[in-house]
Amino acid sequence: MLNLKRPETIFAIDIVRQASQLVKQVQAKMVSPAITKGDQSPVTVADFAAQALVGRALAENFPDQPLVAEEDASELRQPNGQHTLAQVTEFVSALIPQTTPEKICMWIDHGVGEPTEIFWTLDPIDGTKGFLRGDQYAVAFALIVKGKVQIGVLGCPNIADGSRPDLAGSGTLAIAVRGEGAWQTCLDPATGAFEPLQVSQVKVAEQARLLRSFEAGHTNIGQMDYLAKELSVEVDPVRMDSQAKYMLLAAGEGELYLRFLSSRQPDYREKIWDQAAGSLIVEEAGGQVSDLRGRPLDFSAGRTLLHNRGVLASNGYLHQQALQALRAINA
Ligand code: AMP
Ligand code: MG
Repeated sequence: MLNLKRPETIFAIDIVRQASQLVKQVQAKMVSPAITKGDQSPVTVADFAAQALVGRALAENFPDQPLVAEEDASELRQPNGQHTLAQVTEFVSALIPQTTPEKICMWIDHGVGEPTEIFWTLDPIDGTKGFLRGDQYAVAFALIVKGKVQIGVLGCPNIADGSRPDLAGSGTLAIAVRGEGAWQTCLDPATGAFEPLQVSQVKVAEQARLLRSFEAGHTNIGQMDYLAKELSVEVDPVRMDSQAKYMLLAAGEGELYLRFLSSRQPDYREKIWDQAAGSLIVEEAGGQVSDLRGRPLDFSAGRTLLHNRGVLASNGYLHQQALQALRAINA
């Protein structure tokens, strides 16, 4: 049962709700990449605003627990980042009076912490490319203790909460606490009950619904096709941005989620904030998560999953078959 009295759990749910509302507000007013980072990935006013909000809240509520987050304020401190910084400040000011650009940079940079024995990890907008396209994205927040995810929360504004058809468009919040199960509720308003998430019971590989990144550059389409053939799967994989895929898997709306290494970046290591929350949600919903060779995800190696290659998440029943197929195609 979910213990809704634990301070960390209440905090994580509340702040993901607030950050999700904030990014929706930014999206309603403006959608364009503010800055293209060194790795060519886009970052928007919404990414910065959400990270500032969470960084501030964490510094106030759990000052001893570092935040390891995707963004930092270095670009905003440059002369050509001033316009973006002013926009971020304006959006955050609506929630936190007397916000200044200096405070915004400080709150964002609360997220440049290094992983320690207990720390939080945040992707303020996972799937920024999906966010820009108007597709799926997620606010992803997790607590990691001794290299294991203990709490994972995903705010998915564009996933309808299946348990509340009357609130279509409200988005879905998923939470898992290790040992307490995986649950979903309305993202907004915060009045809904928590319903259990459970993976699908499909045990036949041919019937597996595969989930993959929307962006071809984040995976390997050729290997995806080989795997589908090896498992005799006939339906095309579902293409979707962000950890919303983990949410779907946990809700029984897919059986296998694969992150193959892109042939353009064979040395890519998954970032911890891209996998932490979603992986615990799938495990607590009864599924299984490993890398492509079956090794457990190791969150104790810094900002990336240094000791892992790619990701395989499943409903559990099909995990061994998928690993065998991955070996057969030399993935
Ligand atoms: P998805 O939409 O599932 O592909 O997840 C989005 C995340 O993929 C982003 O937050 C990036 O951190 C991450 N990403 C960026 N480049 C790559 C890559 N070459 N391989 C795998 N993931 C990547
Ligand atoms: Mg991300």
